[in-house]
Amino acid sequence: MIKREQVYEGKAKKVYKTDDPELLIVSYKDDATAFNGLKKGTISGKGVINNRMSNFFMKTLEERGIPTHYVEELSDRDTLVRKVEIVPLEVIIRNISAGSFAKNYGVEEGVVFDSPTIEFSYKNDELGDPLLNEYHALALSLATCEEIATIKEYAFKVNDELKAFWVRCGITLVDFKLEFGRLLDGTIVLADEISPDTSRLWDSNTGEKLDKDRFRRDLGGVEDAYIEVMRRLTEARQNKQ
Ligand code: ADP
Ligand code: UDP
Repeated sequence: MIKREQVYEGKAKKVYKTDDPELLIVSYKDDATAFNGLKKGTISGKGVINNRMSNFFMKTLEERGIPTHYVEELSDRDTLVRKVEIVPLEVIIRNISAGSFAKNYGVEEGVVFDSPTIEFSYKNDELGDPLLNEYHALALSLATCEEIATIKEYAFKVNDELKAFWVRCGITLVDFKLEFGRLLDGTIVLADEISPDTSRLWDSNTGEKLDKDRFRRDLGGVEDAYIEVMRRLTEARQNKQ
């Protein structure tokens, strides 16, 4: 399958048409942004790592009964996916307080929740991705009641799978963002990516941050953190086989 016309260039990926109207190619870039695009930079090699990591998780989740957009890894940076109509909700699952949760609710980072939380924000860069609840999503016709129920069910299941996998890598899954989309027949599938750009990953022993917070907060060692996470993932995969 080859790339045709570029249909979109986002902050982290480019999206291309293919000869099949139901398939797209996503191409992962090294560009990094934070704070709704205010901070810009490059994380060298990130695109390759995020592409491979995201594909590994999508394949694994698919095997565990969660439908995804993943079709085939085409190269280091390019992946064939099923085209979806993205549900304009950023679905965030948290196991431990961090980031905007800690800030908004006045708690320190690192508080372990008894059970995971879910929140939605309206995927709308112009509005700064505002937080909203299910009733707001219904009022704005962003998704139906049934779709929201399916998204919640899948999101918690993804959390269980990812958390268990990262434990095997000596990594604590703090929080992450998912996006879902609709296939032509309306089926809800997991789309976009699962990577250190969209997850908070802390070393289970030292608490060291191994994710995009190193870039957001100017902590240094950004590339090394992505490489280390990928190294541990590859090792855990090999140990299982
Ligand atoms: P952003 O739009 O937030 O800058 P990216 O740079 O990651 O994000 O761009 C990728 C875009 O492609 C996102 O808007 C995402 O919602 C969208 N997308 C991801 N998977 C699919 C898919 N299977 N079909 C259609 N669009 C998708
Ligand atoms: N996240 C993301 N894209 C966004 C906002 C958040 O991938 O546009 C991820 C982020 O990497 C973290 C989780 O969602 O793993 C929760 O982010 P939070 O709400 O704490 O926002 P932040 O502190 O990153 O602004």
